[in-house]
Amino acid sequence: MNYNVNEKGYYGEFGGAYIPEMLYPNVEELRQNYLKVMAEESFQKEFQQLLKEYVGRPTPLYFAKRLSEKYNTKIYLKREDLCHTGAHKVNNTIGQILMAQRLGKTRIIAETGAGQHGVATATVCALMGLECIVFMGEVDIKRQAPNVARMKMLGAKVVPATSGSKTLKDATNEAIRDWINNPLDTHYIIGSVVGPHPYPDMVARFQSVISEEIKMQLKEKLGRENPDFVVACVGGGSNAAGAFYHYLDKPEVGIIAVEAAGKGIDSGESAATSALGKVGIIHGSKTLLMQTNDGQITEPYSISAGLDYPGVGPMHANLFASGRGEFISITDVEAMKAGLELCKLEGIIPAIESSHALAIFENRKFKKDDVVVVNLSGRGDKDLDTYIKYFNL
Ligand SMILES: *Cc1c(COP(=O)(O)O)cnc(C)c1O
Repeated sequence: MNYNVNEKGYYGEFGGAYIPEMLYPNVEELRQNYLKVMAEESFQKEFQQLLKEYVGRPTPLYFAKRLSEKYNTKIYLKREDLCHTGAHKVNNTIGQILMAQRLGKTRIIAETGAGQHGVATATVCALMGLECIVFMGEVDIKRQAPNVARMKMLGAKVVPATSGSKTLKDATNEAIRDWINNPLDTHYIIGSVVGPHPYPDMVARFQSVISEEIKMQLKEKLGRENPDFVVACVGGGSNAAGAFYHYLDKPEVGIIAVEAAGKGIDSGESAATSALGKVGIIHGSKTLLMQTNDGQITEPYSISAGLDYPGVGPMHANLFASGRGEFISITDVEAMKAGLELCKLEGIIPAIESSHALAIFENRKFKKDDVVVVNLSGRGDKDLDTYIKYFNL
């Protein structure tokens, strides 16, 4: 069984490119070129050098001793929180900005919900001196003021999306409209393993540096490349795709994907896509998404902005449907508790997204000798306000 993408852009029955006719030339140009460009020696050299010197890779694989003692297993944290800009997202935006340059593009567009992908995109546009336009729902602009300020400081233009619910999906529609109108000079940087083929595969490849490093670091520490389990939170699924990538076809490595259950799976306020989702099309891709009986996308909810997405990338839909991945949903309450626990036990303040992955140890038991790698996707600085309000700090 192959859990990676096939030539047509499918993971099992999921994926593909369900796009308006007018977007076809843009997506087709990318599809025809992305593997060729990524294989070029000059591309790899520049990508690797920026990952090292700008992002600060390799990120450490840290044995969390006190956390391991508490849960009676061996927990290693992959420290993506130490990446420049505070999370894994920059691995992908670096890769895509280099791709855009190789394809002769001079103008970058992106959409963002919580603002994290907008910041990662604005960062690399500043780095390369390219024009950057970020579409963002009007409601999200109000909710995420610090990230809007960051994007502006980095030189990006933030354009409000004023239609519909004025949130992420409306920003996505605006970005797609812009791309249709500017096919020649513009590249659209998508921030997760979502969107039409080849985006999910391209983003997974850029993020796969995470599991490449885990393999090398485990080999060095333990004399083996494989952990028993690798755990990651899933919003769209890019940090998880990167952490799972080199283990997809190794059945001896357990894959655990953690979704946000919000106020509870049955509360009507959640983002637990695998538990609640049905097959549908979102953002140009056939995948699992939360929708009403007549196919309207349900507004998702999670205390962590980065997991607040109604779908999941096609790779993860297939990992769920095939049973290759174990899917666990974690509530706001469980995640917040696990986040604070990591602070107290290890001196690391995690992003609330990453806290969802950490929360599984309360109920999911492992053997004493199991090596469990948790991808710590980001740091908690951006979430300080939420932590303050939640814990009355
Ligand atoms: C954006 C984000 C996520 C969720 O995105 P994925 O594509 O699922 O990885 C998770 N953690 C952090 C810290 C994020 O910023």
